[in-house]
Amino acid sequence: MKIVEKDFGVSTKSRNQMVDITSRVHSIVSESGISDGDVIVFCPHTTAAITINENADRDVVHDVLLTLSELMPEHRSGYRHSEGNSDAHCKSSLVGCSEQVIIKNGKLNFGTWQGIFFCEFDGPRSRRVVVQVRGE
Ligand code: ZN
Repeated sequence: MKIVEKDFGVSTKSRNQMVDITSRVHSIVSESGISDGDVIVFCPHTTAAITINENADRDVVHDVLLTLSELMPEHRSGYRHSEGNSDAHCKSSLVGCSEQVIIKNGKLNFGTWQGIFFCEFDGPRSRRVVVQVRGE
């Protein structure tokens, strides 16, 4: 089994933002030469996350961020963390810091409407995404 690991930067522009990174992950998969296996996309930050969701209708991203912010508001009595970004830490844990996608015939084996997103919850910041491709 071959393993290829790469990383790339993402510059976010607002406090809460979902950045479509599908094409960047696909490029790394293509360049790896691995045609069958899987890819792990990992976020090495505690106030950001990785998720897979619809990338056709941008309103889906809006509604996901709206829902997360309603469930986990920025200001809430009871938060103790002194940095003031407890909502971002909670969102990071709920959404999760990685996703795994199957690679079939050199391509991400996605459903029609799926894409992979870097989720910023405490931006704007310069972030990093780690991608590991494994297979034959
Ligand atoms: Zn913090």
